[in-house]
Formats: sequence, structure tokens, C-alpha cells
Amino acid sequence: MPGPILRIAIPSPLYRTFDYLPPPDCDTATLRPGARARVPFGRRQTVGLLVEIGTDSELDPALLRPALAVLDREPILPADVLALIQWAQRYYHHPPGEAFATALPALLRQGEPAIIPQPPPAWRITAAGLAALAESVALRRAPVQRRLLDHLAQCPAGLDAETLRPVVRDSAATLRALCARGWVESDGADAPTTTEVATAASPAPSAAQIDAVAAVSAALDRFQVFLLEGVTGSGKTEVYLRLIEAVLARGRQALVLTPEIGLTPQLLARFRERLPGPLAVLHSGLSDRERLNAWLLARDGTAKVVVGTRSAVFAPLRAPGLLIVDEEHDPSYKQQDGFRYHARDLAVIRGQQLGIPVVLGSATPALESVQNTRAGRYRLLQLPERVGGGTEPPILILDVRRQPMIEGLSPPLLERMRAHLDRDEQVLLFLNRRGFAPILLCHECGWLSQCRHCDARMTLHLRQRRLTCHHCGDSRPVDALCPVCGSVDLRAVGHGTERLETALRPVFPDIGIARLDRDSTRRRGSLETLLADIHHGDRRILIGTQMLAKGHHFPEVTLVGIVDADQGLYGVDFRSSERMAQLILQVAGRAGRAEKPGTVIIQTHHPDHPLLRVLVAEGYPAFAAAALTERQEALLPPFAHQALLRAEAVDPERALAFLNAARALAEPIADGLELLGPAPAPMERRAGRYRAHLLLQAARRQDLHRLLDPWIARLWARPADRQVRWSLDVDPVELY
Ligand code: ADP
Ligand code: ZN
Ligand code: ZN
Repeated sequence: MPGPILRIAIPSPLYRTFDYLPPPDCDTATLRPGARARVPFGRRQTVGLLVEIGTDSELDPALLRPALAVLDREPILPADVLALIQWAQRYYHHPPGEAFATALPALLRQGEPAIIPQPPPAWRITAAGLAALAESVALRRAPVQRRLLDHLAQCPAGLDAETLRPVVRDSAATLRALCARGWVESDGADAPTTTEVATAASPAPSAAQIDAVAAVSAALDRFQVFLLEGVTGSGKTEVYLRLIEAVLARGRQALVLTPEIGLTPQLLARFRERLPGPLAVLHSGLSDRERLNAWLLARDGTAKVVVGTRSAVFAPLRAPGLLIVDEEHDPSYKQQDGFRYHARDLAVIRGQQLGIPVVLGSATPALESVQNTRAGRYRLLQLPERVGGGTEPPILILDVRRQPMIEGLSPPLLERMRAHLDRDEQVLLFLNRRGFAPILLCHECGWLSQCRHCDARMTLHLRQRRLTCHHCGDSRPVDALCPVCGSVDLRAVGHGTERLETALRPVFPDIGIARLDRDSTRRRGSLETLLADIHHGDRRILIGTQMLAKGHHFPEVTLVGIVDADQGLYGVDFRSSERMAQLILQVAGRAGRAEKPGTVIIQTHHPDHPLLRVLVAEGYPAFAAAALTERQEALLPPFAHQALLRAEAVDPERALAFLNAARALAEPIADGLELLGPAPAPMERRAGRYRAHLLLQAARRQDLHRLLDPWIARLWARPADRQVRWSLDVDPVELY
């Protein structure tokens, strides 16, 4: 009689699981899906996940190899996470091994035991340390201490001195100094699980907060999705905290997802102050060991609250009670390569599978979510005003047509800046383009700083004297002469944050300028230093990219200038106006406070753009309504469902041949579907490869998915053209 067959998901780009025999000495009765197994794979060994125990194999059993060892007695992933990954793998049509790999911490993928090792003495930040960090003034003169504290704030479970070594030069001495100030403590040989009593009191909730909390609390035992809409500062986080308290009181856990950039020490400090017990934090800055520890604390239920970025949607929980997705509109929830899942959408699926509520929060919800509330699938909860009665800042459109622009800034904006700066206030300029100028042009012969590998120009970074391609990363020094005609008349065209900074120095010689973008904050600790200077008032002009839009709050800023809204109004992607509206309001929301709300000025050449006018005159909900009407008329998402088949190859013909063949396979089974393309991608050449895509679109989601299953199977079954890389993106958020 044939014995059991182990179907194992192995991290590989193949769209299938692999069959193995049980290891020779294995008691097969104890095998459970969700355990890891070490298996031979080709000429090497690897660790895979047992997803099913079958009775037969498509292969000749004589050809099957036995697994080398089963590594876990108990499933390493709880059944609900296993089910979620399987659902996601099928929905996104991604190779199962890679999907499972996304959910497992690296050390577990490498076969490490799933136990928390006896920890060396761990250092943790104290409440006083958190307060010092939040004030930031206390640490202005001690950047090293600040960096270490910041790091500890991100790892509430504590870190040993050894792990902290790479963070600062002399971690032991710095820890001693911080200990002397009462800002860190060492818990000796105790496990880092001591229950702490939360200290901070909660403010009395507003009527709208009471309603929102009551609505979700009434649904704690079932699946329901809530969209919590409220401007920045309207008290959404406060609602989350109260809901989490209610969930903890029932002995359950809460999972909170935030965008990477929104997961700040301030947010964690607030959670730690208010909620009892250890917090597990999962984000990309952790070491493998830290990540595994946090993951295990979530899984065994020690951590009652788990806060994490995108992939934390797969975090194992012992007693899940509530899922929260903060800033639910944020594009970073969608993974843009490999396993292209959307963490917000998966949170909703997970809530449904578990029968627990899901709260999506945002000041500027995604149009998909707005439409879901209109269709009655999600329940809308609104927090209509800022806490403390402050009004939202007025937004003004500034028509810059025919204005004598000075390095991208119009005289009226410069005048307003001067007025605010004269009153000792701060000014924030938002420009979502880093570098000095997006193009370098020869005025003599017309040469452009074209990237050799992409259909894109290289951005001039004047301070580094380099041209850099923001798409493939290629970079080279700038010559003083045109590489074609040798002219010295090279001109920088267009504006980036670096150019704004350079232009403003002579205009406001006495005022410190802080530029916040990926270039200026690359060095460890430089962002913290800039933020401290801003809060201290040493720098009063802030220039930044979308880095400014999240997480941080600048109470002294009373004027926000959106330097260039036109990019977003007429971008290539149908989502660009939605993005622009969200960014404008997010940047606006970073500024001011109740008694000093400030003003937002938008520079544009299209002052009559209908969506921009609605946004400014009536606010985001009206904008969303108008944008949804446009989408409905154009039959675009959320009124249509899309999947994008991308292909790329060094030879453009091969990519197109693949897509044409794919189209031919789809046509006979494409009932209720539109097939658009193949067409070259908006940026046809990137990093030396030609890119094209085929867009599938259907009015009804089930029509799309009815096609995808057999179609993708047939694509995998074709003899592979090794020159072509292809991938499927279900519900793409970018059509690139
Ligand atoms: P959001 O998450 O919507 O930006 P927060 O929850 O962070 O808003 O609230 C903004 C500020 O107002 C925070 O400092 C918070 O502590 C405070 N706050 C929130 N709700 C109340 C309330 N009911 N009474 C007093 N202060 C509140
Ligand atoms: Zn030239
Ligand atoms: Zn390039």
C-alpha cells in the first residue's frame, strides 16, 4: 500500500508544490500541515513547508525522494495563517513556495528552531526614556544616545548589548550613560516578557469617537469591515487604542498594520504608554533574530498587540480579536515585486476567515474602500473634526500661469513665506522629486542626460556632482562639458528638492533650511538630527518629498506650499489624481495645531482642473465622489477589475511574442473580459530590458478570476522561453 505523500512548498519560482516521501524514521501519524521539512532539492538541500499530506502522486513513487527530516512536531504556522496564504497564493496566482516564504521569518526559512532562546540580559527603554525621545529637546546634544534610544523604542522586547553594537560605536558605555539618566533599564536574566502596567490615562472621548468605538465593539464576535474616516488629528489612533483595550479585556490579541514610514518611535511610544504587556513590532529594520523573536511572541500570545508593516498581515496570532489597517490608502501596502499581494485586502480576507472585525483607517481613503462603503460592504465611521475644535487649514489654489517663477516658486508664494517666517513660524514646501533637476540639457546641441538602460532621464544631483537614474540606479559623474559637442552651456531643467534648497538660501539667508528626502537622510541618525533641529526651531524652512507626508508632525508649521501639483493632475496613471489629492491632504495634515491651523497653497498651471477645485472647495469626501463618477464613466477600478500580465526581455520582440501567445490562449476563454494589448509599458525600457504588458479587465471580479485559473496554468505549462521574464499582477495599483 502506498504510504502518505508529503506535498511541500519550496521557495522557488515554480508554480507548484513538490512531492516527497516521509523521512524513513518518521511516525507519519503525527504529521501535520504547517510543519517544516528539510528536503533534497536538485543538488542542494532546502527547507520547505508541508502544506498537504496526500495519498498519491502524479510522479512514479519510485522516483520520489524521501524528505530528510520534519523539523516541527507542531505546525509552525497556525491553521488560519496557512489558510490565508493558500487563499492569497491562489488569488494572486503566485508560486506557493514563495508565498509561504513571505510569511516566515528568515531564520525559520533556514531551519532554525522555533523557540525563543534563553536571552542574554536585555536592555529596554523606560517610560522616562520614551518621554525624553518624544520631547527630543533633551537629546538634541546627544545624537548617539538618541540613536540608541530610538533603536530601543523600536524593539520594546529589549535588546542585548551585543545586538546593539552595530548601532553606535560604544554601545556598552552609551547604555551605562542612558541607565544613569533612568532612560533605559536592564532586566537582568528575566525573560523579556514581564507584564507592565500601562500608565498613561486616556482622554475623555468625543461623541464621534464614542460612536465609532461602540460600533466596532458591538461587532467583536463577527466579521465586519469598518472604514474609519477622519482628518489627521481627528482622533483615529485614539479610537484604535480604545478598541484594542476592549479586545485585550476579552483575552484576545490585536494586529495593527501601518505603512513602513508611519511606524515611528512616537507611535510605538503611544501604544506602549497606553497598552499593558509587551508589544511585538515587525518591520524591515529588524535583525533576523529580532524579527523571529517578535514573531514568536505574537504566535505564543505573549505579545497582546502586534504592530507591523505590510508582511505582518501574515503574523501568527494565538487569539486574534481585531485587525486594524492604519493609513489604509497607502500604496506601500501593495507589494510591487515577487508575490504581489495587497496587505489591506488580505487583512479583510483574514478577518473574514477568522470571523473578527477589521478597521481600516484613513484621512483620505482609497477610492476602492469608499466604493465598498457605498455598496454596503464596509461600514463607514466618520470623525468629522480635529480634536480640540481646531479647524482644518484652508487650501488655496495659486495660479502660476504667466508668473515670473523663481526656481519653481512664484512671487506670491515667496511673499507668503516671508510673512510667516517674519512671525517666527515655520514653512513647509512639498515637492515630490529629489535631486537638483530631473534633466541636464546641452543648450548648444540639445543633448539630454538620457539613461543608457532606461527610457528615462538621469537626475542631476549637483552636490554629489553626479547624474543618477532613479529607475535603475545607474550613476555617473557630471562632466563640465557636453559629452557630444563639448559645449560648456549645460543647463539644469526642472526642479528637485536640492535645487529648491539651493535657491532659497540666498533669499532667506538667516533662516535654517531642512531638506528631508532620501538623499539627505541616507546617513544613520541624520533624519533624527534634522527633526530635532526643526522641533527646536533652528531650521524653519522644511523642504521635502513624500517622506514628509507621513508619521511626523510639525506643530510650528503654519504655511504649506505644494510646489508642483501638475505632475499629479495629468499623470500617465489613472490613479495619479487620487494620489495627488491624498498627498496634498496628508502633507497639510502634518502642519499646525488646533490654535494655529495654518494655510495650504497649491501652485498649479491648471487652476480650473475640476477635481482639484472640488478637493479645495469641498474636501476629500466630495473629491472622492467626483473621482468615482469619473472612474465609473470610464469603467475603471473600482468599477472594473484588472490583472496585468507583464513581460520583459532584452529583445523586445520576445516579450511581445510571449504576450501575443498569452493573448491567444486567453481569447477563447475570455467571456466577459476585455483584453487590452499587448502594449509597451509606459517606460518601455528599464535597466536594459524591454517591458510590455497585457491588461485584462472585467466588470465583474468573478469573470476575471474564472479566466485566470486555467489561463495561468496554461502559461506555466508552455515550454519556457528563458529569455522572457513574466509576472502576473492581480489588482495592480501601478500600470508600469
Ligand atoms: P489621528 O490618529 O486621527 O491623527 P490622534 O488619535 O493621534 O488622531 O489624535 C490627535 C491628538 O489628539 C493626539 O494628541 C491625541 O492624544 C489627542 N486626542 C485624541 N482624542 C482625544 C480626545 N477625545 N480628547 C483629547 N485629546 C484627544
Ligand atoms: Zn552639446
Ligand atoms: Zn536607468
